[in-house]
Amino acid sequence: MTSHEVINPATGMPVSTVHGASVEEVDAAIARARSAFPAWAGVTPGDRARLLRRFADAVDADGEHLADLEVANAGHTIGNARWEAGNARDVIEYYAAAPERLFGRQIPVAGGIDVTFREPLGAVGVIVPWNFPMPIAAWGFAPALAAGNTVVLKPAELTPLTALRLGELARDAGIPEDVFQVVTGKGSIVGQRLVDHPDVRKIVFTGSTEVGRSVMVGAAAHMKRITLELGGKSANVVFADADLEQAAATAPYAVFDNAGQDCCARSRILVERSAHDRFLALLEPAVKGVRVGDPTLVETEMGPLISAAHREKVASYVPDGAPVAFRGHAPDGPGFWFPPTVLAPVAVDDRAFVEEIFGPVVLVVPFDDEADAIRIANDSPYGLSGSIWTQNVGRALRVARGIEAGNLSINSHSSVRYWTPFGGFKQSGLGRELGPDALDAFTDVKNVFISS
Ligand code: NAP
Ligand code: MG
Repeated sequence: MTSHEVINPATGMPVSTVHGASVEEVDAAIARARSAFPAWAGVTPGDRARLLRRFADAVDADGEHLADLEVANAGHTIGNARWEAGNARDVIEYYAAAPERLFGRQIPVAGGIDVTFREPLGAVGVIVPWNFPMPIAAWGFAPALAAGNTVVLKPAELTPLTALRLGELARDAGIPEDVFQVVTGKGSIVGQRLVDHPDVRKIVFTGSTEVGRSVMVGAAAHMKRITLELGGKSANVVFADADLEQAAATAPYAVFDNAGQDCCARSRILVERSAHDRFLALLEPAVKGVRVGDPTLVETEMGPLISAAHREKVASYVPDGAPVAFRGHAPDGPGFWFPPTVLAPVAVDDRAFVEEIFGPVVLVVPFDDEADAIRIANDSPYGLSGSIWTQNVGRALRVARGIEAGNLSINSHSSVRYWTPFGGFKQSGLGRELGPDALDAFTDVKNVFISS
């Protein structure tokens, strides 16, 4: 029996102790998920939909509790944590509509009738990182369950509390225990076993590109289906004709939200050369105005980093002598705090400009024209999201088409809407979550020909 302490990153104090599952325990959970699969796949669409709606209602009723858990476990601001609990509810509710609409096709052929079915895969492993524990879990388990699969959910070792609570709420809603299981423990044990076990038919993994690559290799042994949501180094491209006040006022929140621990963080700001100095002048008060501190307060805009180790990693990108243009504030004392930090001028081959920092550090570089902006934005192994600021519609569309990324926003910084597909180009991932097509990732198409 192993267990580990869950720490509140805002205080450094223990919150609770959580069990770390062994390989044998993971195998037992997979066996239960496998046995529960035929009955769950056989639940009538209307009943499966009803159970998911009840689950969404249970999440809604528990929203404030879930949010408080996330504040204590992950250091998220209460405002963000409420949004995250609401997002989990919305995603479950959205996919609750799916069982009754999981249509196949009837295809005209000679000599009979041809129909297709979208069959569930079986037991699905959902492996979740610590940065957005509730939403990322729900993006995987909700469509998986809706399509008739059973799920073993493995939260990050650092942030298991909301996942455990979501498991209880599913049971309260009447979803059978073995249909949706939450197994806590180490990635190297629980996560790895889900990847390697032949009876897990699909892995949804969100996390680092490095571990994502090993998931892909492991999955190949069984031709296991995978969805990967990995890292990012997204560009916020600001043209001189943009509403510079608005672009500068919003840029800090596009990268410092969740203390920069966001795969969609716009962590490279590219500014057209003629507007560069004015943009920096406007950015400074915006960055200094970000309210960093006690995440339980509604007015707080940024909390701590997730752990001492992660803070050390982030700090390594801002060594003594780093070109800090200006910084915001962060509390002293206990907790894993790091102030919002702007680096400029920097070279585009700087380590900090190239690697995913996953903390509140943003770099600003100038560009010359549209082609130059697209070239710099694309000069990255990642391609998750990005923003384009300009009042010229044609340019906005040209640049959006030119940037190699899965989720772009024009004159805004939003990447995630549960109605629309989300995922990465290049080494930011494989497959798409959310939106109407996510069910394709949890079903295989079966074609049946009936002679007549
Ligand atoms: P990670 O190691 O990739 O962890 C993500 C998830 O995978 C966690 O649940 C982890 O479990 C699990 N895991 C770890 N090793 C595994 C393995 N061999 N097989 C299967 N699952 C495994 O990410 P991290 O260490 O938490 O963060 C490292 C860096 O990844 C960050 O600094 C950031 O750059 C990036 N990251 C990106 C995202 C994103 O949303 N794209 C999210 C988080 C991190 P344990 O927690 O138990 O180890
Ligand atoms: Mg790791």
